[in-house]
Amino acid sequence: MAGEREWRQAELRATRDLTPDIRLFEIAPAGEFVPPAPGSHINVAVQIGERPDVRSYSIVGPCADGLYRIAVKLLPLSRGGSAHMWRLKPGARLSVTTPGNHFPLALHRPDYLLVAGGIGITPIYTMALALAREGARMRLLYGCRTPRDAAFAEELRAVLGDRLSLAFSQDGGRLDLASAIASLAPGGELYVCGPIGLLEEAKRTWRDSGRPVDGLRFETFGNSGRFASETFTVRIPRLGLEIAVPPNRTMLDALEEAGVAMISDCRRGECGLCALRILDTDGIVDHRDVFFSEEEKAENAKLCTCVSRVAGGSITVDTPDRPAPW
Ligand SMILES: Cc1cc2nc3c(=O)[nH]c(=O)nc-3n(C[C@H](O)[C@H](O)[C@H](O)COP(=O)(O)OP(=O)(O)OC[C@H]3O[C@@H](n4cnc5c(N)ncnc54)[C@H](O)[C@@H]3O)c2cc1C
Repeated sequence: MAGEREWRQAELRATRDLTPDIRLFEIAPAGEFVPPAPGSHINVAVQIGERPDVRSYSIVGPCADGLYRIAVKLLPLSRGGSAHMWRLKPGARLSVTTPGNHFPLALHRPDYLLVAGGIGITPIYTMALALAREGARMRLLYGCRTPRDAAFAEELRAVLGDRLSLAFSQDGGRLDLASAIASLAPGGELYVCGPIGLLEEAKRTWRDSGRPVDGLRFETFGNSGRFASETFTVRIPRLGLEIAVPPNRTMLDALEEAGVAMISDCRRGECGLCALRILDTDGIVDHRDVFFSEEEKAENAKLCTCVSRVAGGSITVDTPDRPAPW
């Protein structure tokens, strides 16, 4: 499905704030409507400063009326894709793709456990509605910071009743993954969408339960790391440079702006082209890429500068010695 996507012109019909930082967008695409399966997302063209870029957003709800609905969390300390979305007003012209799906819901399983953290509720909400419609056996665990942050909680409560469990971290609440997995019927599947910490806990708990690896399906929206983004300093002794990377810039952007000749492609931590050799650090490298293995990340020999950061200190790196372009 992902390979068959087409770009379409579209109009933003309406927006509605679901929580203080999650906004619902109703989008009418031109041309024949491609209905989304649960777990699907659309890509939206955004403008990040001077640079056109693309962001993905999961489709919420069945969209039986021919509109794609997405819910976008505003990330103030980011490159600005979500802020671009939040600046859009009803009537705005958009470019969106037809739906793609890397997180498909398998139907007719004996039991389902759905787990969402924060904005990760978007695909999980759509899955929960689809499963409830099918009369499937299921449970949903949904963790948020506070009740005010729990987008779609009322709608889910109305459909799922006590099959929905909410936990609020501000009150010390935790999702009890171990007992929910233990009570899942044999052959049941686990679907998780949320921050990397939740996903890792789910993977660990699933593995410890002895259930088959392919019974766990997940999606993350990008890795926000294990530490909050803060300013850190990059030193490149060979070039005599010392560069500050503020929380809302990537290390790659900061190096490019300082005139360092970098090579990059995906800018999502997937291709590894922008990786640099680490000479020293007095902080903790927060590896946010999916390019290096866990072992390579633990070795700390290199980092992907497009997404990874340093917490609590500075880093000294070297860039490949590239010939001058003339
Ligand atoms: C399949 C899919 C579905 C998605 N669905 C949704 C959805 O339903 N709702 C939603 O709100 N989002 C969703 N996203 C995420 C969305 O595509 C954007 O990544 C999000 O809106 C943030 O965009 P941004 O430009 O504001 O932040 P970006 O800068 O693109 O941030 C992306 C990631 O990089 C990290 N990051 C941010 N700033 C820095 C920095 N200075 N240095 C290093 N790393 C940084 C962030 O923590 C984040 O994880 C989805 C993503 C995917 C892949």
